[in-house]
Amino acid sequence: MTSLNDLPLRDNLRGLTPYGAPQLHVAVALNVNENTHGIPDAVARDIVAAMTEAIRTINRYPDREFTELRESLARYLGHGLTRENIWAANGSNEVLQQVLQAFGGPGRSVLGFAPTYSMYSLLASGTGTRWIAGTRDADFELTPATATGWVDTVSPDLVFLCSPNNPTGTPLSLDTIAAVYDATDGVVVVDEAYAEFGPSGAPSALTLLPGRERLLVSRTMSKAFAFAGARVGYLAADPAVTDALRLVRLPYHLSALTQAAAIAALAHTAEMLAMVDDIRGQRDRLVAELAVLGYSPLRSASNFVLFGGVDDPRGTFEALLAEGILVRDVGIPGHLRVTAGTEAETSVFLTALAGLGQHSVVQPNKLLE
Ligand SMILES: *Cc1c(COP(=O)(O)O)cnc(C)c1O
Repeated sequence: MTSLNDLPLRDNLRGLTPYGAPQLHVAVALNVNENTHGIPDAVARDIVAAMTEAIRTINRYPDREFTELRESLARYLGHGLTRENIWAANGSNEVLQQVLQAFGGPGRSVLGFAPTYSMYSLLASGTGTRWIAGTRDADFELTPATATGWVDTVSPDLVFLCSPNNPTGTPLSLDTIAAVYDATDGVVVVDEAYAEFGPSGAPSALTLLPGRERLLVSRTMSKAFAFAGARVGYLAADPAVTDALRLVRLPYHLSALTQAAAIAALAHTAEMLAMVDDIRGQRDRLVAELAVLGYSPLRSASNFVLFGGVDDPRGTFEALLAEGILVRDVGIPGHLRVTAGTEAETSVFLTALAGLGQHSVVQPNKLLE
């Protein structure tokens, strides 16, 4: 057994730490924005039946083109999309990695706007792509002027726009997305992992796809669909984009079991998404009650809330953990992030937080970096 530093590791990986949200067995886990509602029994039975069927031919490689799954996903997304527009992989993290493999790499760069999803910079280093952390406006918003200012200054090969943004919860206007697209010749990825939690009727970046062949909109079944453990993410884009991704994907990357499970789940979209309204309600409750407790929650269009005004984020994190409640310290000074759980979980969190007795003075949000 030797140490990592003694191995001939690639230079750009030296000193990095892997993605490492704690996986602890606690009563109330509100730290990685999972859907904390289980899937309905009847749907679970259907998924198991589909997987049982798939097992019978598991001696053969799966459909490399996952055609039926792409059709199901296109039907789910609507917006006139067909299977030619759809790509999928084992989680949207893998989709994003494939995008960087195809359009990034050594000598190329990807721009994002910090604080944002921590996996972007790790996927960049894993693919040898230079990560550039742009900044945001007050309250972690991102105006077209600020975003295009960064694009003009650093001329990135790719831009990752997270909407709503993790870990801040703030949605991005279509104006900002369209302005970034017009400002660059590169690939623009809009990560809509939390799209289903937005206000009903709020337009998705999917509406911008026609005529924009460098625009990619990524989604996941991990959050609203309560399917995090199955690992299914996908994107919608011009069919030429999916041709590019075929150049870098591993053959048969989506197992027959994954495909069967996802197709069966998508056949029950209404039941799978039934808890989304509930979760939105708990999210709004978190925003309201955190403010009453003297914290400063940010507006959120996702299933989590980032709140400022925390004097000692580490101490508060530890005190909640001692009561069996896991939240996320995302490293933004004075802030913590909490996922909207069931009504009971949300109550346990709010009661515990109130019991800690920090009714601090509201602090202005500080920008990270
Ligand atoms: C959770 C999350 C994802 C989803 O990742 P999967 O690999 O699909 O589970 C993607 N993007 C963001 C911003 C997320 O927060």
